[in-house]
Amino acid sequence: MRIAAVTARRVAVPLTEPFEVSLGVIDTADTVFVRLETDTGLIGYGEGAATPFVTGETAQTVLGAIELFKPALLGASPYAVEPLHRAMDRLLVGNGSAKAAVDLALYDLLAKAAGLPLYRYLGGTDGVVETDMTIGLMAPAAMAARAGELVAAGYRQIKVKAGACDDQDRQAIRLIREAAPQAHLKVDANQGWNPAQALALLHYYTGFGVESVEQPVPYWDRDGLAWLRARSPIPVMADESCFTPHDAAALVRHQAVDQINIKLMKCGGIYPALQINAVAQAAGVSCMVGCMLESRLSIAAGMHLVAATANIVQADLDSFNDFDDSSLVTGEWRFTPPCLDLGEAPGIGLEPVF
Ligand code: MG
Repeated sequence: MRIAAVTARRVAVPLTEPFEVSLGVIDTADTVFVRLETDTGLIGYGEGAATPFVTGETAQTVLGAIELFKPALLGASPYAVEPLHRAMDRLLVGNGSAKAAVDLALYDLLAKAAGLPLYRYLGGTDGVVETDMTIGLMAPAAMAARAGELVAAGYRQIKVKAGACDDQDRQAIRLIREAAPQAHLKVDANQGWNPAQALALLHYYTGFGVESVEQPVPYWDRDGLAWLRARSPIPVMADESCFTPHDAAALVRHQAVDQINIKLMKCGGIYPALQINAVAQAAGVSCMVGCMLESRLSIAAGMHLVAATANIVQADLDSFNDFDDSSLVTGEWRFTPPCLDLGEAPGIGLEPVF
C-alpha cells in the first residue's frame, strides 16, 4: 500500500459565540482537512487546526506545510509512520498542526487497513470516553450560568478559563461552585499569572475544591512552574509549556509538573503524543488530551488516543460544542453528554466533506 494522492482543503466556520482565553479571542474555527489516498483505494483523513497564538500556525501555513510534505508522502508506505515524521521534521521545524493533519490521516489509513477502530488499533479495549467542557472568559455571572447549563446537560467535569484578572478569577470560581456544587472543577490560566500571583490564587481555589491548575505561568518559565509546583496545594498541569516529547522530558527532569495536557495540534499527531505520554508515564505524571478549535474529526482522533492509553486519564475534547461542523464532517457521532462512544467503525470513524 502506497500513498498515491495528497489533497488539502481549508474551511473556516464561525463559532456560535466568540471564545476568549487570557491569550486572545477566537471567533472562527479555521481548519485544514487532509486526504491521503492510497494505490489500493483506501482513503485516510486528518485535520490541522491552526491556532496562531499557541502554535504560531495559520490555516495558510498549514496548507503551505502540506505542500512542502507532499513529495515525501507520495509513494511512501503509510505504515512508515516514524520515517514520515522524521521526513516532515527535516523539512520543517515545529508546525505541529500541519504534521498532525498528516499523522492523523496515516493512523486513519492504518486502522482502516486493519479493519479496526483507531482505539483498538492502538491497543485499547473500551471505546467510551468522557470529556469535560470548558467555560471561556466572560463576566463571572455569565460563567456561572454556563456552569449550571453544563451540569443540567449532563457534564460532570468543568474546566474554567482564568488568568485575565485576579478579582474576576476569584469571583468566577465562587459563583461557578454555587451553580455547580457537585462538578469536578479545574482551572486553566493560559499563562496569565506570575508564580507568586498563581500561588495566592491556588490557595484561594482550594477552598472551592478546584482539582488542578493548567499552565498558570508563561510557557517559557519552566523554573517558575517548578517553583509553583513545589508549593502548590493542587496538581499543576503543563499545556503551552509542553509541545514535544523533549519538552515533556525537560518538564519531568525539572519536577515542574504533575500532569501534562497533550494536544495533537501542538505535538504533531498521535505518534509524538504517544511518546509524550510514555515520558510522562515513566515519570509518574498523568496526562490529559486537550484540543484547539477542532472539528469532530480530530476531536474523535483525540478520543481514540484517550481510549487507548491508561496513563491519559482526562479528556478535554470539547470544541465541537462551539461551532456547527455538520456540513463539514460526516459519519456516526454517538455523543451523549458527557461521553463519546467511538463505536466499531474502522479508523477514526468520521470523514470530512471534500
Ligand atoms: Mg490549556
